[in-house]
Amino acid sequence: AEVTGVQTCALPICSLSLRAAFAAAMLRSRFSRALSTAARRPIVGGNWKCNPASASKLPELIANINACDTSKCDVYVCPTPLHVALCTGKFTNGAQLAPQNANFAGCGAYTGEMAAEQMVDMGIKWCLIGHSERRGEFGLPTPKESNELIADTKLGYLLSKGINVILAIGEPLPVREQGIDKVLEFCVEQLKPAVAHFKAAGADKIVIAYEPVWSIGTGVTASPEQAQETHAALRMWLAANVSPAFADAVRIQYGGSANAKNAPDLSAQPDVDGFLVGGASLKPEFADIVAAIAAAK
Ligand code: PEP
Repeated sequence: AEVTGVQTCALPICSLSLRAAFAAAMLRSRFSRALSTAARRPIVGGNWKCNPASASKLPELIANINACDTSKCDVYVCPTPLHVALCTGKFTNGAQLAPQNANFAGCGAYTGEMAAEQMVDMGIKWCLIGHSERRGEFGLPTPKESNELIADTKLGYLLSKGINVILAIGEPLPVREQGIDKVLEFCVEQLKPAVAHFKAAGADKIVIAYEPVWSIGTGVTASPEQAQETHAALRMWLAANVSPAFADAVRIQYGGSANAKNAPDLSAQPDVDGFLVGGASLKPEFADIVAAIAAAK
């Protein structure tokens, strides 16, 4: 499928000033409803974070996932590391397990870490990296994972072991308050270290989860227009800096207080290819989110 406008920007954007590139991104995003024509299979992920408190609740949460109609939408689930093995083999509809993190050095003397080799051994095909809660947001007193560690070291390591990657990116509120140019500038810095890996791996091994930090767990969702504008601009940047084919095919999820109520309007946006869902993935309404995007695409 063609992404008109992306191809024409692909060559000059590298030589333009950053400001001009972002201006071009904005221009395209204003017209993106008409420009995005790719047929991308939607994908919805459930990030259970550090929940549930008791493993006795897992059957209920697994039932929510199994209630999803996956005939027109891919589904993955990110259980807490302690619960990954308890969820293995429990999904009846093709939903995939995706751990919430990975190390970058394999098995050995890495206390508290999870290795891609262990994921491969367990039949796990996907892994989430770069969630803002691992990038040091929300005041967690853990060391921040840098853009390079996430998008180069960890991404490259996982891909080299055959694990597909959901790469989460997104800006904090002070950046959003400075406008779309700054949002793009911030997100581009999170994507830049991944470019060589994106080129080598291809779009089917990658999902990008755009998750504005100010919307995660806050009940404040990006408007459909904000989500569309940002996704379209990210896609254009990918077209220019990875390839038009990659940009056309890669799925970009929206994450941040997505729920059954706001999913239909967000799903209607042409560059929103799915959701990464936190709180609502612990509820039966998760299946409604999957149904909403499946119906829209
Ligand atoms: C998330 O943790 O990735 C997330 C989007 O959370 P929530 O849906 O609760 O905002």
